[in-house]
Amino acid sequence: MTVYLLGAGPGPADLLTLRAARLLAEASVVVHDRLVSPDVLALVNPAAELIDVGKRPGCSNSQALINDLLISLGREHAQVVRLKGGDPFVFGRGGEELIALRDAGIDASVLPGLSSALSAPMAAGIPVTHRGLSQGIMVVTGHGEAGARVDFTTLALANLSLVILMGVARRASIAEELMSGGLDPSTPVAAVQSAWSEEQQVSRGELSELGQLDIASPAVIVIGPVAALELGIVTEIAASYA
Ligand code: SAH
Repeated sequence: MTVYLLGAGPGPADLLTLRAARLLAEASVVVHDRLVSPDVLALVNPAAELIDVGKRPGCSNSQALINDLLISLGREHAQVVRLKGGDPFVFGRGGEELIALRDAGIDASVLPGLSSALSAPMAAGIPVTHRGLSQGIMVVTGHGEAGARVDFTTLALANLSLVILMGVARRASIAEELMSGGLDPSTPVAAVQSAWSEEQQVSRGELSELGQLDIASPAVIVIGPVAALELGIVTEIAASYA
């Protein structure tokens, strides 16, 4: 009776941890998100039941149903895998699922995956802490209910690389807030869309143009001098596992 919360990483199966791959091969049921790639799902035990609980943007109130599903599966099966895109504890609501499971008396544990917060910029050749350009990274959500949103005006002068997840819809107002907080409108920005997949696209420009950049979700937005770099771009993607 154990539920494992696994990070599926950014897409290619060979970017999973070895431990995650082993647990996928052993599980009798796997509950996964929309962002988990077919490449990773191909590693699931063929006899296992595969349950897609992918949420569409703007429809997040199904979390309670997912918690209930995990609890009931955890009571029936010896080994349940809950597979989440990237890392389960980076905006993945993994903490909420763990609390729900433990409150229900079910043994649960979590394993890391490569988060898009770091791996998406890398796929575009952006070293987020490049010496001389960046003293650190701030990873934030561009989403958030009114009243609980990140106040970007206060982040403007922190002199850190800003890495924004779930920021596509609000990118124009995020740029406005950063500029009104004093960030130079010519600061480089890059948006990395569908990183590590065959559909990967990178759009670059300046902060003042962020609202006009052609970007679709899922994308990670990088703001800061490092966003102008394009080093060692990864050309080898998914598809290697069949
Ligand atoms: N736990 C995940 C993040 C979940 S929030 C992680 O650690 O990566 C979902 C957001 O992650 C998306 O809106 C997008 O900003 C980002 N994201 C996830 N996969 C991505 C990918 N392949 N390319 C670009 N951004 C991605």
